[in-house]
Amino acid sequence: MVEPKYISDAELLSQWDYMKKVSAISADFQSIQGRPPSAYTKTFGCQQNENDTERINGMLEEMGYVFTDRPENADFILFNTCAVRDHAEQKVYGTVGSLASVKRARPDTVIALCGCMVQQPSAAEEIRRKYRHVNLLFGPHALYRFPENLYRVLIEKTRIFDNAPSDGNLTEGLPVKREDKTRAWVSIMSGCNNFCTYCIVPHVRGRERSRLPEQILKEVASLIKQGYKEITLLGQNVNSYCNDLDIGYDFSDLLKEIDAMEGDFTIRFMTSHPKDASEKLIDTIANSRHISRHIHLPFQSGSNRILKLMNRKYTREDYLNLISMAKERIKGVVFTSDVIVGFPTETEEDFQDTMSLIREVEFDGLFTFIYSPRTGTPAATMEGQITDEIKHDRYNRLSALQAELSTLSNQKLVGQVVSVLVTGQNDKDPSLCDGRTDTNKLVHFPGNYPQGTQVSVRIDRALHWGMYGTLADK
Ligand code: SF4
Repeated sequence: MVEPKYISDAELLSQWDYMKKVSAISADFQSIQGRPPSAYTKTFGCQQNENDTERINGMLEEMGYVFTDRPENADFILFNTCAVRDHAEQKVYGTVGSLASVKRARPDTVIALCGCMVQQPSAAEEIRRKYRHVNLLFGPHALYRFPENLYRVLIEKTRIFDNAPSDGNLTEGLPVKREDKTRAWVSIMSGCNNFCTYCIVPHVRGRERSRLPEQILKEVASLIKQGYKEITLLGQNVNSYCNDLDIGYDFSDLLKEIDAMEGDFTIRFMTSHPKDASEKLIDTIANSRHISRHIHLPFQSGSNRILKLMNRKYTREDYLNLISMAKERIKGVVFTSDVIVGFPTETEEDFQDTMSLIREVEFDGLFTFIYSPRTGTPAATMEGQITDEIKHDRYNRLSALQAELSTLSNQKLVGQVVSVLVTGQNDKDPSLCDGRTDTNKLVHFPGNYPQGTQVSVRIDRALHWGMYGTLADK
Protein backbone atom coordinates (compact mmCIF):
# COMPACT_ATOMS: atom_id res chain seq x y z
CA MET A 1 0.00 0.00 0.00
CA VAL A 2 1.20 3.52 -0.81
CA GLU A 3 0.53 5.93 2.12
CA PRO A 4 -2.38 8.29 1.30
CA LYS A 5 -1.31 11.95 1.33
CA TYR A 6 -3.26 13.00 4.41
CA ILE A 7 -2.16 16.02 6.40
CA SER A 8 -1.01 15.02 9.89
CA ASP A 9 -3.43 14.82 12.83
CA ALA A 10 -1.28 17.44 14.58
CA GLU A 11 -1.71 19.81 11.63
CA LEU A 12 -5.47 19.20 11.58
CA LEU A 13 -5.73 19.82 15.34
CA SER A 14 -3.82 23.08 15.01
CA GLN A 15 -6.34 24.24 12.39
CA TRP A 16 -9.19 23.44 14.81
CA ASP A 17 -7.29 25.57 17.38
CA TYR A 18 -7.21 28.43 14.90
CA MET A 19 -10.95 27.98 14.36
CA LYS A 20 -11.43 28.46 18.13
CA LYS A 21 -9.20 31.57 18.06
CA VAL A 22 -11.16 33.13 15.18
CA SER A 23 -14.41 32.17 16.87
CA ALA A 24 -13.26 34.17 19.92
CA ILE A 25 -12.58 37.16 17.64
CA SER A 26 -16.10 36.75 16.22
CA ALA A 27 -17.55 36.77 19.74
CA ASP A 28 -15.71 40.03 20.51
CA PHE A 29 -17.00 41.47 17.22
CA GLN A 30 -20.56 40.51 18.22
CA SER A 31 -20.26 42.08 21.67
CA ILE A 32 -19.14 45.36 20.03
CA GLN A 33 -21.32 45.38 16.88
CA GLY A 34 -24.35 43.63 18.38
CA ARG A 35 -24.34 41.10 15.52
CA PRO A 36 -22.12 38.19 14.42
CA PRO A 37 -19.66 38.80 11.54
CA SER A 38 -21.18 37.94 8.14
CA ALA A 39 -19.65 36.11 5.21
CA TYR A 40 -20.39 36.02 1.48
CA THR A 41 -18.90 33.17 -0.57
CA LYS A 42 -19.27 32.56 -4.32
CA THR A 43 -18.02 29.66 -6.43
CA PHE A 44 -16.87 29.76 -10.03
CA GLY A 45 -16.27 26.53 -11.96
CA CYS A 46 -16.88 22.83 -11.32
CA GLN A 47 -18.57 20.66 -8.71
CA GLN A 48 -15.22 20.02 -7.03
CA ASN A 49 -14.99 23.78 -6.43
CA GLU A 50 -18.56 23.72 -5.09
CA ASN A 51 -17.56 20.98 -2.67
CA ASP A 52 -14.45 22.94 -1.61
CA THR A 53 -16.64 25.99 -0.87
CA GLU A 54 -18.91 23.79 1.26
CA ARG A 55 -15.87 23.01 3.41
CA ILE A 56 -14.85 26.69 3.59
CA ASN A 57 -18.43 27.57 4.62
CA GLY A 58 -18.29 24.80 7.24
CA MET A 59 -15.14 26.34 8.72
CA LEU A 60 -16.62 29.87 8.58
CA GLU A 61 -19.72 28.69 10.45
CA GLU A 62 -17.45 26.99 13.03
CA MET A 63 -15.63 30.34 13.40
CA GLY A 64 -18.86 32.18 14.26
CA TYR A 65 -19.77 33.68 10.89
CA VAL A 66 -23.30 33.88 9.53
CA PHE A 67 -23.96 34.07 5.78
CA THR A 68 -25.32 36.84 3.56
CA ASP A 69 -26.14 36.77 -0.15
CA ARG A 70 -25.06 40.42 -0.58
CA PRO A 71 -21.27 41.00 -0.75
CA GLU A 72 -21.69 44.70 0.05
CA ASN A 73 -23.07 43.73 3.50
CA ALA A 74 -20.41 41.14 4.28
CA ASP A 75 -17.44 41.42 6.67
CA PHE A 76 -15.76 38.55 4.83
CA ILE A 77 -16.01 38.03 1.03
CA LEU A 78 -14.57 35.00 -0.77
CA PHE A 79 -14.50 33.92 -4.42
CA ASN A 80 -13.54 30.34 -5.20
CA THR A 81 -12.01 30.68 -8.65
CA CYS A 82 -11.71 28.55 -11.81
CA ALA A 83 -8.87 28.44 -14.36
CA VAL A 84 -10.35 26.16 -17.03
CA ARG A 85 -11.06 28.98 -19.52
CA ASP A 86 -9.93 32.57 -19.97
CA HIS A 87 -13.55 33.70 -19.77
CA ALA A 88 -13.85 32.34 -16.20
CA GLU A 89 -10.71 34.21 -15.16
CA GLN A 90 -11.81 37.52 -16.70
CA LYS A 91 -15.08 37.22 -14.79
CA VAL A 92 -13.12 36.92 -11.52
CA TYR A 93 -10.89 39.93 -12.28
CA GLY A 94 -13.98 41.97 -13.14
CA THR A 95 -15.87 40.91 -9.99
CA VAL A 96 -12.88 41.46 -7.66
CA GLY A 97 -12.17 44.83 -9.28
CA SER A 98 -15.71 45.98 -8.47
CA LEU A 99 -15.06 45.31 -4.76
CA ALA A 100 -12.50 48.12 -4.41
CA SER A 101 -15.37 50.49 -3.57
CA VAL A 102 -16.65 48.13 -0.84
CA LYS A 103 -13.19 48.12 0.72
CA ARG A 104 -12.98 51.93 0.56
CA ALA A 105 -16.36 52.18 2.31
CA ARG A 106 -15.53 49.50 4.94
CA PRO A 107 -11.71 49.07 5.20
CA ASP A 108 -11.99 46.17 7.72
CA THR A 109 -13.76 43.95 5.20
CA VAL A 110 -11.63 40.86 4.45
CA ILE A 111 -11.56 39.99 0.71
CA ALA A 112 -10.26 36.55 -0.21
CA LEU A 113 -9.65 34.50 -3.35
CA CYS A 114 -9.04 30.76 -3.52
CA GLY A 115 -9.18 27.93 -6.05
CA CYS A 116 -7.44 26.93 -9.26
CA MET A 117 -7.00 30.35 -10.88
CA VAL A 118 -4.96 31.79 -7.98
CA GLN A 119 -2.83 28.65 -7.69
CA GLN A 120 -1.24 29.89 -10.95
CA PRO A 121 1.81 32.09 -10.11
CA SER A 122 0.95 34.56 -12.92
CA ALA A 123 -2.59 35.14 -11.63
CA ALA A 124 -1.45 35.43 -8.00
CA GLU A 125 1.13 38.04 -9.03
CA GLU A 126 -1.53 40.00 -10.95
CA ILE A 127 -3.70 40.05 -7.80
CA ARG A 128 -0.73 41.01 -5.61
CA ARG A 129 0.18 43.99 -7.81
CA LYS A 130 -3.15 45.26 -9.15
CA TYR A 131 -5.82 44.24 -6.62
CA ARG A 132 -4.36 45.53 -3.38
CA HIS A 133 -7.78 45.34 -1.67
CA VAL A 134 -7.48 41.52 -1.67
CA ASN A 135 -6.23 40.46 1.80
CA LEU A 136 -6.07 36.69 1.43
CA LEU A 137 -5.26 34.33 -1.44
CA PHE A 138 -4.87 30.57 -1.19
CA GLY A 139 -4.75 27.66 -3.64
CA PRO A 140 -6.57 24.30 -3.41
CA HIS A 141 -3.62 22.70 -1.53
CA ALA A 142 -3.85 25.31 1.24
CA LEU A 143 -7.61 25.03 1.77
CA TYR A 144 -7.19 23.24 5.10
CA ARG A 145 -4.98 26.12 6.36
CA PHE A 146 -7.85 28.61 5.86
CA PRO A 147 -8.48 29.06 9.65
CA GLU A 148 -4.81 29.84 10.30
CA ASN A 149 -4.57 32.22 7.35
CA LEU A 150 -7.79 34.04 8.28
CA TYR A 151 -6.59 34.36 11.89
CA ARG A 152 -3.31 35.89 10.69
CA VAL A 153 -5.14 38.37 8.39
CA LEU A 154 -7.42 39.44 11.27
CA ILE A 155 -4.62 39.75 13.85
CA GLU A 156 -1.62 40.86 11.81
CA LYS A 157 -3.69 43.08 9.44
CA THR A 158 -1.44 41.81 6.63
CA ARG A 159 -1.95 40.25 3.17
CA ILE A 160 -1.50 36.47 3.05
CA PHE A 161 -0.64 34.65 -0.20
CA ASP A 162 -0.60 30.86 0.34
CA ASN A 163 -0.24 29.19 -3.06
CA ALA A 164 3.09 27.42 -3.01
CA PRO A 165 3.34 24.67 -5.66
CA SER A 166 2.54 21.26 -4.24
CA ASP A 167 1.68 17.76 -5.38
CA GLY A 168 -1.30 18.11 -3.09
CA ASN A 169 -2.62 16.61 0.09
CA LEU A 170 -5.81 15.17 1.53
CA THR A 171 -7.78 16.27 4.56
CA GLU A 172 -10.45 14.43 6.55
CA GLY A 173 -12.44 15.86 9.44
CA LEU A 174 -12.97 19.49 8.39
CA PRO A 175 -16.52 20.83 8.91
CA VAL A 176 -18.75 20.87 5.79
CA LYS A 177 -21.77 23.14 5.31
CA ARG A 178 -24.09 21.81 2.55
CA GLU A 179 -26.86 24.14 1.32
CA ASP A 180 -28.76 21.43 -0.53
CA LYS A 181 -30.50 18.89 1.75
CA THR A 182 -31.34 16.49 -1.10
CA ARG A 183 -28.26 16.22 -3.30
CA ALA A 184 -24.71 16.01 -1.97
CA TRP A 185 -21.23 16.17 -3.48
CA VAL A 186 -18.62 13.77 -2.11
CA SER A 187 -15.05 14.22 -3.35
CA ILE A 188 -13.36 10.81 -3.50
CA MET A 189 -10.03 12.04 -4.86
CA SER A 190 -8.20 15.17 -6.02
CA GLY A 191 -5.74 16.04 -8.73
CA CYS A 192 -5.05 14.46 -12.12
CA ASN A 193 -2.14 12.61 -13.76
CA ASN A 194 -3.43 12.73 -17.36
CA PHE A 195 -1.96 16.03 -18.58
CA CYS A 196 -4.32 16.54 -21.51
CA THR A 197 -2.47 19.18 -23.52
CA TYR A 198 -5.25 21.82 -23.25
CA CYS A 199 -5.89 21.42 -19.52
CA ILE A 200 -4.60 23.47 -16.61
CA VAL A 201 -6.03 21.19 -13.87
CA PRO A 202 -2.97 18.95 -13.30
CA HIS A 203 -0.85 22.10 -12.98
CA VAL A 204 -3.06 23.64 -10.26
CA ARG A 205 -4.63 20.65 -8.47
CA GLY A 206 -1.56 18.40 -8.34
CA ARG A 207 -1.20 14.63 -8.67
CA GLU A 208 -4.00 12.13 -8.20
CA ARG A 209 -4.55 11.24 -4.56
CA SER A 210 -7.41 9.11 -3.35
CA ARG A 211 -9.23 9.25 -0.01
CA LEU A 212 -9.30 5.92 1.86
CA PRO A 213 -12.42 3.86 0.97
CA GLU A 214 -13.52 3.58 4.61
CA GLN A 215 -13.55 7.40 4.95
CA ILE A 216 -15.77 7.76 1.87
CA LEU A 217 -18.09 4.91 2.92
CA LYS A 218 -18.49 6.51 6.37
CA GLU A 219 -19.40 9.89 4.80
CA VAL A 220 -21.85 8.36 2.30
CA ALA A 221 -23.54 6.22 4.98
CA SER A 222 -24.02 9.34 7.12
CA LEU A 223 -25.54 11.25 4.17
CA ILE A 224 -27.97 8.41 3.43
CA LYS A 225 -28.94 8.39 7.15
CA GLN A 226 -29.56 12.17 6.94
CA GLY A 227 -32.01 11.54 4.10
CA TYR A 228 -29.96 12.65 1.08
CA LYS A 229 -31.55 11.28 -2.10
CA GLU A 230 -28.71 11.82 -4.51
CA ILE A 231 -24.97 11.45 -3.86
CA THR A 232 -22.48 12.45 -6.55
CA LEU A 233 -18.96 11.08 -6.24
CA LEU A 234 -16.45 13.64 -7.51
CA GLY A 235 -12.97 13.47 -8.98
CA GLN A 236 -11.14 14.81 -12.01
CA ASN A 237 -10.96 11.18 -13.18
CA VAL A 238 -12.94 8.92 -10.82
CA ASN A 239 -12.10 5.85 -12.92
CA SER A 240 -8.52 5.93 -11.65
CA TYR A 241 -9.69 6.05 -8.02
CA CYS A 242 -7.29 4.17 -5.74
CA ASN A 243 -4.65 3.59 -8.44
CA ASP A 244 -2.33 5.74 -6.29
CA LEU A 245 -2.97 3.65 -3.16
CA ASP A 246 -2.24 0.28 -4.79
CA ILE A 247 -4.52 -1.69 -2.39
CA GLY A 248 -6.15 -4.01 -4.96
CA TYR A 249 -9.30 -1.89 -4.81
CA ASP A 250 -10.80 0.29 -7.54
CA PHE A 251 -13.68 2.61 -8.36
CA SER A 252 -16.05 -0.26 -9.22
CA ASP A 253 -15.35 -1.82 -5.81
CA LEU A 254 -16.25 1.47 -4.11
CA LEU A 255 -19.48 1.71 -6.13
CA LYS A 256 -20.38 -1.88 -5.21
CA GLU A 257 -19.93 -1.19 -1.48
CA ILE A 258 -22.09 1.96 -1.66
CA ASP A 259 -24.69 0.14 -3.77
CA ALA A 260 -24.96 -2.51 -1.04
CA MET A 261 -26.09 0.14 1.47
CA GLU A 262 -29.79 0.15 2.36
CA GLY A 263 -31.91 3.23 1.67
CA ASP A 264 -33.72 5.28 -0.98
CA PHE A 265 -30.90 7.05 -2.84
CA THR A 266 -29.22 7.40 -6.22
CA ILE A 267 -25.46 7.38 -6.82
CA ARG A 268 -23.97 9.53 -9.57
CA PHE A 269 -20.29 10.15 -10.38
CA MET A 270 -18.14 12.56 -12.41
CA THR A 271 -15.88 12.89 -14.18
CA SER A 272 -14.94 9.69 -16.00
CA HIS A 273 -11.99 9.37 -18.37
CA PRO A 274 -12.70 6.94 -21.25
CA LYS A 275 -9.18 5.47 -21.10
CA ASP A 276 -9.90 4.10 -17.58
CA ALA A 277 -13.58 3.20 -18.03
CA SER A 278 -13.59 -0.61 -17.70
CA GLU A 279 -15.88 -3.51 -18.54
CA LYS A 280 -15.98 -4.09 -14.75
CA LEU A 281 -17.39 -0.55 -14.29
CA ILE A 282 -20.07 -1.11 -16.94
CA ASP A 283 -21.14 -4.41 -15.38
CA THR A 284 -21.14 -2.84 -11.90
CA ILE A 285 -23.59 -0.17 -13.10
CA ALA A 286 -25.71 -2.73 -15.02
CA ASN A 287 -26.10 -4.97 -11.94
CA SER A 288 -26.65 -2.18 -9.40
CA ARG A 289 -29.75 -1.00 -7.52
CA HIS A 290 -28.74 2.60 -6.82
CA ILE A 291 -26.31 3.72 -9.56
CA SER A 292 -27.85 6.16 -12.07
CA ARG A 293 -28.16 4.99 -15.68
CA HIS A 294 -26.76 8.36 -16.74
CA ILE A 295 -23.01 8.35 -17.56
CA HIS A 296 -21.05 11.53 -18.18
CA LEU A 297 -18.13 10.43 -20.41
CA PRO A 298 -16.14 13.30 -22.02
CA PHE A 299 -14.89 12.48 -25.56
CA GLN A 300 -13.59 15.97 -26.45
CA SER A 301 -13.03 15.21 -30.18
CA GLY A 302 -14.07 12.62 -32.78
CA SER A 303 -10.81 12.91 -34.70
CA ASN A 304 -8.00 10.49 -33.82
CA ARG A 305 -5.41 13.02 -35.01
CA ILE A 306 -6.79 15.65 -32.60
CA LEU A 307 -7.22 13.12 -29.75
CA LYS A 308 -3.51 12.34 -30.12
CA LEU A 309 -2.58 16.05 -30.01
CA MET A 310 -4.79 16.40 -26.93
CA ASN A 311 -2.91 13.47 -25.28
CA ARG A 312 -6.28 11.81 -24.50
CA LYS A 313 -4.83 8.27 -24.75
CA TYR A 314 -7.81 6.67 -26.55
CA THR A 315 -9.08 6.57 -30.11
CA ARG A 316 -12.50 7.29 -31.54
CA GLU A 317 -12.93 3.52 -32.03
CA ASP A 318 -12.08 2.83 -28.35
CA TYR A 319 -14.66 5.39 -27.29
CA LEU A 320 -17.40 4.03 -29.58
CA ASN A 321 -16.69 0.44 -28.45
CA LEU A 322 -17.15 1.52 -24.84
CA ILE A 323 -20.44 3.23 -25.67
CA SER A 324 -21.80 0.19 -27.54
CA MET A 325 -20.76 -2.17 -24.72
CA ALA A 326 -22.58 0.07 -22.22
CA LYS A 327 -25.69 0.31 -24.45
CA GLU A 328 -25.72 -3.49 -24.77
CA ARG A 329 -25.36 -4.19 -21.06
CA ILE A 330 -26.99 -1.26 -19.18
CA LYS A 331 -30.76 -1.04 -19.74
CA GLY A 332 -31.91 2.55 -20.35
CA VAL A 333 -28.36 3.98 -20.25
CA VAL A 334 -27.95 7.58 -21.47
CA PHE A 335 -24.79 9.59 -22.06
CA THR A 336 -23.72 13.17 -21.73
CA SER A 337 -20.27 14.40 -22.60
CA ASP A 338 -17.76 17.25 -22.99
CA VAL A 339 -16.48 18.34 -26.42
CA ILE A 340 -13.98 20.99 -27.47
CA VAL A 341 -14.20 22.80 -30.82
CA GLY A 342 -11.37 24.80 -32.36
CA PHE A 343 -8.42 22.88 -30.87
CA PRO A 344 -5.18 23.96 -32.60
CA THR A 345 -4.83 22.61 -36.20
CA GLU A 346 -8.45 21.28 -36.19
CA THR A 347 -9.56 21.04 -39.85
CA GLU A 348 -13.12 20.93 -41.21
CA GLU A 349 -12.53 17.19 -41.71
CA ASP A 350 -11.57 16.75 -38.02
CA PHE A 351 -14.66 18.71 -37.05
CA GLN A 352 -16.84 16.47 -39.25
CA ASP A 353 -15.34 13.46 -37.39
CA THR A 354 -16.60 15.06 -34.17
CA MET A 355 -20.05 15.69 -35.67
CA SER A 356 -20.34 12.08 -36.95
CA LEU A 357 -19.38 10.66 -33.54
CA ILE A 358 -22.10 12.80 -31.92
CA ARG A 359 -24.68 11.47 -34.42
CA GLU A 360 -23.53 7.89 -33.77
CA VAL A 361 -23.70 8.07 -29.94
CA GLU A 362 -26.85 10.27 -29.76
CA PHE A 363 -25.89 11.99 -26.52
CA ASP A 364 -28.64 13.21 -24.25
CA GLY A 365 -26.68 16.42 -23.74
CA LEU A 366 -23.29 17.96 -24.42
CA PHE A 367 -21.15 20.54 -22.66
CA THR A 368 -19.58 22.26 -25.64
CA PHE A 369 -16.47 24.35 -25.15
CA ILE A 370 -14.61 26.65 -27.50
CA TYR A 371 -10.88 25.92 -27.14
CA SER A 372 -9.28 28.55 -24.85
CA PRO A 373 -5.44 28.64 -24.64
CA ARG A 374 -4.29 28.22 -21.01
CA THR A 375 -0.86 29.64 -20.13
CA GLY A 376 1.45 26.84 -19.10
CA THR A 377 -0.31 24.11 -21.12
CA PRO A 378 1.37 22.58 -24.23
CA ALA A 379 -1.57 23.32 -26.54
CA ALA A 380 -1.36 27.06 -25.82
CA THR A 381 1.91 27.29 -27.75
CA MET A 382 1.01 24.86 -30.53
CA GLU A 383 1.16 25.98 -34.17
CA GLY A 384 -2.14 26.27 -36.05
CA GLN A 385 -4.30 28.18 -33.54
CA ILE A 386 -7.84 28.49 -34.97
CA THR A 387 -9.51 31.88 -35.57
CA ASP A 388 -12.40 32.95 -33.33
CA GLU A 389 -14.66 33.17 -36.37
CA ILE A 390 -14.11 29.50 -37.28
CA LYS A 391 -14.37 28.45 -33.60
CA HIS A 392 -17.75 30.17 -33.23
CA ASP A 393 -19.05 28.80 -36.54
CA ARG A 394 -18.19 25.25 -35.46
CA TYR A 395 -19.62 25.88 -31.99
CA ASN A 396 -22.92 27.01 -33.50
CA ARG A 397 -23.17 24.10 -35.94
CA LEU A 398 -22.37 21.57 -33.22
CA SER A 399 -24.84 23.12 -30.74
CA ALA A 400 -27.59 23.04 -33.38
CA LEU A 401 -26.96 19.33 -34.03
CA GLN A 402 -26.99 18.51 -30.31
CA ALA A 403 -30.20 20.52 -29.75
CA GLU A 404 -31.84 18.35 -32.43
CA LEU A 405 -30.59 15.11 -30.81
CA SER A 406 -31.57 16.18 -27.26
CA THR A 407 -35.06 17.09 -28.45
CA LEU A 408 -35.44 13.69 -30.16
CA SER A 409 -34.26 11.92 -27.00
CA ASN A 410 -36.71 13.87 -24.82
CA GLN A 411 -39.57 13.40 -27.31
CA LYS A 412 -39.28 9.63 -26.85
CA LEU A 413 -40.69 10.21 -23.32
CA VAL A 414 -43.80 12.19 -24.34
CA GLY A 415 -46.90 10.36 -23.04
CA GLN A 416 -44.80 8.27 -20.64
CA VAL A 417 -44.77 8.47 -16.81
CA VAL A 418 -41.31 9.08 -15.32
CA SER A 419 -40.04 9.20 -11.74
CA VAL A 420 -38.81 12.69 -10.82
CA LEU A 421 -36.74 13.89 -7.84
CA VAL A 422 -37.99 17.36 -6.85
CA THR A 423 -35.11 19.85 -6.69
CA GLY A 424 -37.22 22.95 -5.90
CA GLN A 425 -39.69 25.56 -7.22
CA ASN A 426 -38.96 27.11 -10.62
CA ASP A 427 -37.17 30.49 -10.33
CA LYS A 428 -39.07 32.09 -13.20
CA ASP A 429 -42.53 30.55 -12.62
CA PRO A 430 -43.08 29.68 -8.91
CA SER A 431 -46.27 27.76 -9.79
CA LEU A 432 -43.98 25.18 -11.38
CA CYS A 433 -41.91 22.53 -9.64
CA ASP A 434 -38.46 21.53 -11.02
CA GLY A 435 -37.03 18.06 -10.83
CA ARG A 436 -34.67 15.54 -12.41
CA THR A 437 -35.23 12.05 -13.75
CA ASP A 438 -32.83 9.20 -12.91
CA THR A 439 -31.06 9.98 -16.18
CA ASN A 440 -30.72 13.63 -15.05
CA LYS A 441 -33.27 15.06 -17.49
CA LEU A 442 -34.89 18.34 -16.35
CA VAL A 443 -38.68 18.23 -15.82
CA HIS A 444 -41.08 21.09 -14.97
CA PHE A 445 -44.61 20.38 -13.71
CA PRO A 446 -47.34 22.33 -11.87
CA GLY A 447 -47.24 21.94 -8.11
CA ASN A 448 -45.42 22.82 -4.91
CA TYR A 449 -43.50 19.90 -3.33
CA PRO A 450 -40.64 19.84 -0.83
CA GLN A 451 -37.12 19.33 -2.20
CA GLY A 452 -36.26 15.63 -2.18
CA THR A 453 -39.81 14.38 -2.83
CA GLN A 454 -39.97 11.63 -5.47
CA VAL A 455 -43.05 12.02 -7.72
CA SER A 456 -44.43 10.41 -10.89
CA VAL A 457 -44.90 12.82 -13.80
CA ARG A 458 -46.54 12.21 -17.18
CA ILE A 459 -44.47 13.96 -19.88
CA ASP A 460 -46.62 16.22 -22.10
CA ARG A 461 -44.05 18.32 -24.01
CA ALA A 462 -40.35 17.93 -24.85
CA LEU A 463 -37.75 20.57 -25.72
CA HIS A 464 -33.98 20.17 -26.15
CA TRP A 465 -33.05 21.38 -22.64
CA GLY A 466 -35.92 19.76 -20.73
CA MET A 467 -39.56 18.63 -20.56
CA TYR A 468 -42.96 19.74 -19.22
CA GLY A 469 -45.39 17.37 -17.59
CA THR A 470 -48.26 16.82 -15.18
CA LEU A 471 -48.38 14.84 -11.96
CA ALA A 472 -49.29 11.30 -13.06
CA ASP A 473 -51.90 10.40 -10.45
CA LYS A 474 -53.96 13.47 -11.30
S1 SF4 B 1 -8.40 14.18 -17.47
FE1 SF4 B 1 -7.50 15.71 -18.81
S2 SF4 B 1 -9.15 17.22 -19.01
FE2 SF4 B 1 -9.63 16.01 -17.23
S3 SF4 B 1 -8.75 17.12 -15.48
FE3 SF4 B 1 -7.24 15.60 -16.17
S4 SF4 B 1 -5.91 16.69 -17.58
FE4 SF4 B 1 -7.79 17.89 -17.34
